[in-house]
Amino acid sequence: MRDVINIANDGELQDRFARRFQYVRLSLTDICNFSCSYCLPNGFRKQKGAPPQLSVDELIRLVRAFAALGVWKIRLTGGEPTIRPEFLEIASRVSAIDGIKKLAVTTNGYRLPERAESYAQAGITAINISTDSLKSEKFNKITKHDRLLEVLDGITACQNAGIETIKVNTVLLKGLNDDELTDFVAFVKDRPIALRFIELMRTNSNSDYFKRHHLSGRKVSDMLEASGWSKLPRTAGAGPAIEFSHPDSTGRIGLIAPYSTDFCSTCNRLRVSAIGQLHLCLFGEGGFDLRPLLQSDAMLPELIKRICSLMIHKAPAHDLHNGNSGATPHLASIGG
Ligand code: SAM
Ligand code: SF4
Repeated sequence: MRDVINIANDGELQDRFARRFQYVRLSLTDICNFSCSYCLPNGFRKQKGAPPQLSVDELIRLVRAFAALGVWKIRLTGGEPTIRPEFLEIASRVSAIDGIKKLAVTTNGYRLPERAESYAQAGITAINISTDSLKSEKFNKITKHDRLLEVLDGITACQNAGIETIKVNTVLLKGLNDDELTDFVAFVKDRPIALRFIELMRTNSNSDYFKRHHLSGRKVSDMLEASGWSKLPRTAGAGPAIEFSHPDSTGRIGLIAPYSTDFCSTCNRLRVSAIGQLHLCLFGEGGFDLRPLLQSDAMLPELIKRICSLMIHKAPAHDLHNGNSGATPHLASIGG
């Protein structure tokens, strides 16, 4: 029977505010090999007694349930999703699920030069690669890894492998990379890729860092508009970025500004953590456990019903403006 609140007439998931959800970010692991200063400054530490990650079969059942509810875009994220030994198997199986039209991954670029081709073969059509500096020394300082060249070669390898959509994620960090804004813009001038500036988000574990390094996205949009960049209309299934184009630039610039007014009104995504918790908001108070319903194919109808019934809990907006970043310790924990 159709759930009148949580399912739209065409069978897609929606919430109380008529927002539609065709896009799910799936965390494959909360483990990461990098130690980004705003995310895991002391590296990944396994919590005692933490439940195991979802198995490949559990992940596949989860995606099948979402696909039955009209979700057509999946992003594999983490932690660092590509360090999961079964990463290629997961990507191949997810991309083959009926209804999934776009499979994306967000990665720190680890071993990307030699792996890009295999990602394309596994059905990955979109990739976001994180780079917070184009200067080796600063890249090392932010990530604690001397891998900028590997990341840059990885971007070229993705182009050569024919991955359709290539984006670079750059977190705006006052006093660390705000002197590189024009270098980042120049980076996409002759490349068919989009670079997205992400406003630093406060989490449970980075509030002092946030106070020191948060830079408003407004500085970027003012800079772009003053130098001839124009805002583009939002496309279906798009992420949270406002995109800009320039007649003299092949590549585009995006801006993700969660502190801007109305950021939540176009929310079209849900998240599932590596242990199977459905998070309705990145900055919510916790997740809803789906794992008990991922144990057999026969549970699929019940799983679908449970996902629908949880949509009622999706809040109209986050509460970041009041300094409340919810229960998220860092973005690696539930998939950024
Ligand atoms: N490890 C992968 C990576 O770094 O691309 C995927 C997971 S990471 C959590 C996803 C994205 O979230 C990255 O682009 C990262 O820079 C961004 N991120 C992490 N913590 C953040 C924060 N506190 N504020 C804004 N962006 C953040
Ligand atoms: Fe790892 Fe990504 Fe977090 Fe950096 S931002 S520590 S690469 S999960």
